[in-house]
Amino acid sequence: MAILVQKYGGTSLASEEARRRVLGHIERERAHSYALVVVVSAMGRMGDPYATDTLLSLGGSAQSLPPREKDLLAVCGEIISANVLCGLLRSEGVPSIVMTGGQAGIRTDAGFGQARIMRIDPDPVMRQLEQGKVVIVTGFQGQSDQGDFTTLGRGGSDTSATAIGAALRAERIDIYTDVDGILTADPRLVEDAKPLDTVSYAEITNLARQGAKVIHPRAVEIAAQSNIPLRVRSTFSDGEGTLVTADPVSESQVRDRLATGIAHVPKVTQISVTADGHKDMQLNVFQSMAKHGISVDFINVTPGGALYTVFDEDADRALEVLGKLGYTPAAVRGCAKVSVVGSGMHGVPGVMARIVEALTEEGITILQSADSHATIWVLVRQEQMTAAVRALHNKFELHL
Ligand code: ADP
Ligand code: ASP
Ligand code: MG
Repeated sequence: MAILVQKYGGTSLASEEARRRVLGHIERERAHSYALVVVVSAMGRMGDPYATDTLLSLGGSAQSLPPREKDLLAVCGEIISANVLCGLLRSEGVPSIVMTGGQAGIRTDAGFGQARIMRIDPDPVMRQLEQGKVVIVTGFQGQSDQGDFTTLGRGGSDTSATAIGAALRAERIDIYTDVDGILTADPRLVEDAKPLDTVSYAEITNLARQGAKVIHPRAVEIAAQSNIPLRVRSTFSDGEGTLVTADPVSESQVRDRLATGIAHVPKVTQISVTADGHKDMQLNVFQSMAKHGISVDFINVTPGGALYTVFDEDADRALEVLGKLGYTPAAVRGCAKVSVVGSGMHGVPGVMARIVEALTEEGITILQSADSHATIWVLVRQEQMTAAVRALHNKFELHL
């Protein structure tokens, strides 16, 4: 039995017309004799009635909910969309069944809001596939050993899809979304961003980690571990989208390009702390951030101080914690991290010079920078983020 996993994101399920498209993709693959598992997200985005953000903002009450109950509220969106799709499939005579994450055998730890998948029992889904049913699985959720609903972190339906695909040894996992595949930059910022035909797991993991939210990085890591090909494609067209594998077919496309794409993370605050004679400053700063669940990034530690970023929404808390420890931190709020990602840049001289050139030509100041073998990061002011992404996209000729 050849198994295909399809995952549909929020916008792919948001309207009657979109759901008709979904139906078309399901019927096409069934006609190719695939056994289908369809993983769904909640319908729509913030403001739409059953979107995750909308549920979590209901009456402002979710803020005071304990994590377990907050997850129980959050999973409702996927449960609704799965049943809406099941109704549509059945009205068209397609045998189908809805399974929650738990019913589909996904066991997680009890880390509500950010649960980790511990194991997946493929048998319950397999039994339904063997009966010829399309199995619709609610994305983004699993079940703890205590029987509680858990969520896998925002954007977690991608992870559900690849984890189920790996457990079932699927032939391929298709991630259907609202763009034509993985592009050289977010098309919302760069009009002439180009879809990539093929990318490696490593490159898309890097892009996704640096903010290209077209697919969740954890989802790619799971697909890579099992070596199952992924396709990122549009629900709204019949294009093939981007194929993600360990060893992309058209190697020249991957290896000969210096940069693969530009990614960005908006709304971060740069914090700098100086030791000022305090003992164990480095240890105190990072232990205190960890203790308060504040995620830190862009870290630069010297004997005299520490420089790092936190999300804008965590900045007040971070500064308060540091203040209580006796430090006088400085903060630059409203920054953005922009990254040039590409395995082709490793060892090539002049890449940083190009980046500085591109940004200087636009009058953009680099507040901080760092590099690894396949990524160069710069921190800029939020209001210059779009200009920075566009300038770098142009400089690396990604539109060609
Ligand atoms: P879904 O609801 O289908 O999971 P998401 O909103 O999570 O969709 O992801 C799709 C969005 O990712 C696109 O609408 C696009 O704006 C954004 N995006 C960011 N970077 C990229 C990129 N490099 N390629 C394609 N899309 C990107
Ligand atoms: N609905 C969840 C979210 O908005 C999961 C997902 O869409 O992947 O984060
Ligand atoms: Mg998504």
